[in-house]
Amino acid sequence: MEKFCRDMPKIELHAHLNGSVSEQTIEKLLKRRAATSSSSSEQHGEAVATGCNIKPGNDLSLDDCFKKFSIIHQLCSDDESVYIITKDVIQEFAADNVKYLELRTGPKCNSTSNMTKSSYLKSVLQAIRDATTVKTSEIIVKLIISIDRAKPLQEAWENLQLAKQFRNFDVGREDMGDVIVGLDLSGHPSTTDVEKFIPVLQAARESSFKLTIHVSEIAGREDECRKLISLRPHRLGHATNLSTHPNQCIDIIQKILIQNIPLEICLTSNLMTSTIADLSSHHLQYWLDKKHQCIICTDDKGMFSTSLSKEFILASTTFNLSKEEVWSMSRNAVEHIFSSEHVKEQLRTMFATFICD
Ligand SMILES: [Zn+2]
Repeated sequence: MEKFCRDMPKIELHAHLNGSVSEQTIEKLLKRRAATSSSSSEQHGEAVATGCNIKPGNDLSLDDCFKKFSIIHQLCSDDESVYIITKDVIQEFAADNVKYLELRTGPKCNSTSNMTKSSYLKSVLQAIRDATTVKTSEIIVKLIISIDRAKPLQEAWENLQLAKQFRNFDVGREDMGDVIVGLDLSGHPSTTDVEKFIPVLQAARESSFKLTIHVSEIAGREDECRKLISLRPHRLGHATNLSTHPNQCIDIIQKILIQNIPLEICLTSNLMTSTIADLSSHHLQYWLDKKHQCIICTDDKGMFSTSLSKEFILASTTFNLSKEEVWSMSRNAVEHIFSSEHVKEQLRTMFATFICD
């Protein structure tokens, strides 16, 4: 099964850029920073000690994860490092036989390095172009712009504006349509007052962007989830707690089923952030029993030392899925990408050549 999951062509639809940065790339950035800065060797040591030594198997709280994100943000505080991480992340997904990747990130700025949100986004897009236009590359990469629910509303409007401005940035694959395909609402789930973002998300929809929203990562957010689902998002991230309290959430569950909103499922992430007690109680089984569309994703492959192949292996061993069932999940993900029918057709053709045996 391990070889099968690695060899199988795959689609990754829930991958945060910063959380996907591998330890090798972090080492590369630390060395680069040490070479270009005279004053920060202590900071490097501190960064490694507090953020980068979190190994698989360690329990991480959600707060730990967001601390680690902040360390990676510090290391990616200039345009060049943003370019490096994006290119590395794409190459690592491609090496794992991922054929189509939707990366997500929120544009960032840094006054010390003169990085603006606009230059940040350009660095990401240039890295997408350079990583995908080489002859050996078989991966198609699209971008989703993240709105951080912990940040002010003004930033969300700025992000939408940038998404519109850069949506058709030339990444050398004109036949594949726009490079920016959607918006996502994410960030620390304990922050409240997400209603304020609804007009931005509505405006994004009106501008023909697709929407994916992190919902129900922690318990007790049913009202928030109801409001966000009323936007009719095209996909949902996690939806962890709906099935643990089905009586309180029955109307939400029904809406997801009736509207056929696919769920982005991130097993290792949910386990390591302790938003589920153990894998056997993971909500994937609940939704599979209802024959609902579930897409296996990594969330933050660098943070949790995982890969999309490993997530499929985990799904198959935990829920006793056959090769046919695993392959069916991978292939069906094509139908839920945010790109055009033309791109879907290309992927269907590519996936049709894989022999499931
Ligand atoms: Zn996520």
